[in-house]
Amino acid sequence: MERQPPSPTIELVAGDRALFASDMHLGEHDPATAEVFLARLRELAASASHVFLLGDLFEAWVGDDFADPVCERALDALRSLTRAGCRLFVMRGNRDFLLDAPLCSQAVEATPAPMSFSARTGAEMLEDPTAVGLFGERALLAHGDALCTDDADYQRFRALTRDAGWQRAFLARPREERIAIAQDLRARSELSKSSKADFIMDVNAGAVEAAMHAAGARLLIHGHTHRPARHSLTLDGQPALRLVLPDWDAARGRGGMLLATAQGISEA
Ligand code: MN
Repeated sequence: MERQPPSPTIELVAGDRALFASDMHLGEHDPATAEVFLARLRELAASASHVFLLGDLFEAWVGDDFADPVCERALDALRSLTRAGCRLFVMRGNRDFLLDAPLCSQAVEATPAPMSFSARTGAEMLEDPTAVGLFGERALLAHGDALCTDDADYQRFRALTRDAGWQRAFLARPREERIAIAQDLRARSELSKSSKADFIMDVNAGAVEAAMHAAGARLLIHGHTHRPARHSLTLDGQPALRLVLPDWDAARGRGGMLLATAQGISEA
């Protein structure tokens, strides 16, 4: 696969309003959560200058030629957002790591060939992690799965599926095959998760510190763990903050965004 272009330099300044959200897991299996999330996004993004979606927007993504009706609705909603002038940034998660990956032409049955995710929505893709300027402070944005270093099984899987050769071979398969493989991988992951201790599936404190230190950031915003929280920590002798975004699940009343302005960061 071709190297992605470097992430854009993002600098939020006074007057900007940035929304952060992750782990919506949108898909046909749960139309209610998509309704709730997209309605909330429409409402909040109307006054936002930037929207950051930090991974697992979709429950599964087997290539840009895949979209069920629920995902289609989400793509249209994101397009409306960028058309209205909002800058939309999307990071890949562990479920939708193939977002915007170039498709192999032989695997695509649709004519004309489908548009890439970014072309379709107007989103700018973010590398994981990405450092941004947040009102004069440096903040590190991540999905969060790469920080769960205690989960050796998962990190092996992550390394495999982020490999360019693996992705090329996967994306060369017909769509139906890709869907079947993804379902199988998912089932196996659920099975292995059920036998893992709680701490293994949370971020590792050392990995968090190393990532923040390397980025020169004293604020980290991530999702993935489904353990929304505001953690104070000490980094290089200075106070630092780790904000964990909630996952979205309409049936269980879960979800929420963070709103960052020059005045601070609050729940939205
Ligand atoms: Mn995740």
